[in-house]
Parts: sequence; structure tokens; C-alpha cells
Amino acid sequence: MTTPPNETPVLATNPASPGAPLGEAPSRIAATVDLGKDGKQHGYLRVPHSRNDSAWGFVQIPITVVGKGRGPTILLTGAAHGDEYEGPISLMKLSRAIDPDSITGRLIIVPALNLPAVKSATRLSPIDGVNLNRAYPGGRSGSISAMIADYVYRELVIAADIVVDFHSGGKTLDFVPCAVMHQLDDEGLFQQTLEALKAFGAPVGLVLRELDDEGMLDTAVESLGKPFISTELGGAGRVTAETMAITDRGVTNLLRHFGVLEASADPLGIGPAAVAETRLMHTPDADCFIASEHAGMFEMVADLGATVRKGDPVGRVHFHEDASAPAVTYLAGHDGLVLSRHCPGLIQRGDCLAVIATDFPSR
Ligand SMILES: [Zn+2]
Repeated sequence: MTTPPNETPVLATNPASPGAPLGEAPSRIAATVDLGKDGKQHGYLRVPHSRNDSAWGFVQIPITVVGKGRGPTILLTGAAHGDEYEGPISLMKLSRAIDPDSITGRLIIVPALNLPAVKSATRLSPIDGVNLNRAYPGGRSGSISAMIADYVYRELVIAADIVVDFHSGGKTLDFVPCAVMHQLDDEGLFQQTLEALKAFGAPVGLVLRELDDEGMLDTAVESLGKPFISTELGGAGRVTAETMAITDRGVTNLLRHFGVLEASADPLGIGPAAVAETRLMHTPDADCFIASEHAGMFEMVADLGATVRKGDPVGRVHFHEDASAPAVTYLAGHDGLVLSRHCPGLIQRGDCLAVIATDFPSR
């Protein structure tokens, strides 16, 4: 266990809402579970959502809380984006299978955080068009995404010692499965998070410097000095047996790493597999992110996971309305690995065409 237990957990039912700014009213979202209670509870986060087809309706986001005694509290969230599936599926399996007697501490599991987006298989909320992972810290009086972000931040994140937020590439991107952390200025928090990143055991552990981190859950958690792990576990709007196995193994490894899950417990049935070796990589500058400057038909030249040298072709854009126009070839800006790629057959100007990751310098 690398994180001290949260000795005084803050409860979602606490009317003082300690995560809220001074004088601000509590969240408008109510939980049907008690975050401080031992045992296993399945329930909902009830988000008020009055609409044409349900005047006094709610959006009911499933939540499972599992607790036993004193130990770290881990918040596990999936589907901030509604077209990313590995994390949500693994967390639903965990919610059903976890035996409270096999843990020490507390798990707060929200597999389908952006439930409206999950139901429409879209990245953004179909209700307000907002990207939930750019809506933090949110606001109680805002649209539905702002309300969800506000609740997550001031009730769940405040109650947690560690936050793990599962992402995949969605319909438009695919990734070499990776666990992700940010480059952090706080050396102690960086090392603590790096150990968790390695423990996850994904094929790649990515130390990411975001191009745009405004409003992310990641940034909100890190600013509180708490370890935050994210993932990109595949993509293309579907899962594979391989990406699910990596996810189930990673979830189990992380819970064991933080001392919450007994070493002998195996709720996701990963078997006796040891923690796999992780290749630590990073994206040191903007040259790692290749953006298309053309719209057309997309040809991948170097497949996902391929090793490339600086200057190697990665992809081409063909102009299907003009057969005489030569295709444009996009080149790798670094030696490294093709970590991510654009998925649809057509590409637009400004789309992320590919991401090249390079090996993280040993330290
Ligand atoms: Zn995502």
C-alpha cells in the first residue's frame, strides 16, 4: 500500500458537502447508497432531468460501493465518454463479483458515469453536447454534464485517496492498450503514480503531457495531490478479448497494488498471471501528435504498434473527388511506436491522424 488510508471519509450524504466552495449549496445529485457503510451496495446517482417525456424524471447512474474496515478508498470510473467500453465492462464485472470480505478499505465504482452518452454510444453527452472530461470541476447549477462533474469532484473525488478513470479511444481512435499518467511537478506524487502505472501491467505505460488539460478530471484530482491513473485500452468503438484481458488484469493488479484487494482474491478471474512488464513511454512534444491538414480517404501505412523512425511514412490522405491529385503522406516526427491511430476510413482537416510515443527515459 503506497497511500495512507483516508481516516475520515467524507460521505456523499454529508449535508455540509465539504468539497463545495464556501457558502455554495450541496450538489443536486442524490446517491441512493451510503459511501461510508461497510458491505456491498448497488444503487444510483439520481440526477434530476426534467424533460418532455418525463416531467419529474431523473437520470439514474449506477454506482456500487464496497467497503470493509479502514483502508484506502479507490474511486473507479468508466464511460466518461460513451463510446469507450473496456473500463465500463470490467467495472460492471467487478461490481457483481467483488466479495466485500476480500477487501480492506473502500471501492466506489461508477462504470457508466456519462450514462446518457453510453445509451447513445457517443463521446459527448447527447443532452447538452458537453465533453464530460472537459467539464471539471463542474457546477451544481449548470447543464447535466456540469452537474455530474460537480458531484464527482466534490463528493466522490474528495472521499477518495486514489482515482482511476478508464478510457479507450472511442469510435474515432484506436490505441495500443496503455495505462496513462501525467507528467507531474510534485516528485513524490509522480513516483507514487508511476509505481501504480507499472503495477497496472498494460503493454504500455504512458507518461503524457496533455495538449489541452483544461477541465479534465485528471487535472482536478492531481491538483488535490491524489494519485490519478487513466487508461487508453483500445478503441474503434468496440472491445477485443485481448483488450478485455488487459483491462481485467490491470484492475486486479491496481487493487492489489494499493492493498485494497487480498492477494489471493481474483474477482475478475485473471488466474495466476503475474504483473506483466510495462514499456514506459511518453509524448515529449507536439511533434508526437500528427494532425491531418487534409480531408480525404485515410490510408494507414504504419499499423498500430509498429516501430517507426523519424521521417518514416505513417499515413496517407487520398482525394477521392480528384483521382489526379497526388496523395499527401504524413511522416513520423520521432523515432518510436505508433501508439494511436485515426479509425474511420475518411479523415477531416484537424483530425488526429496518429500519435507516436517514444521510450520514457529511465530515472
Ligand atoms: Zn475517453
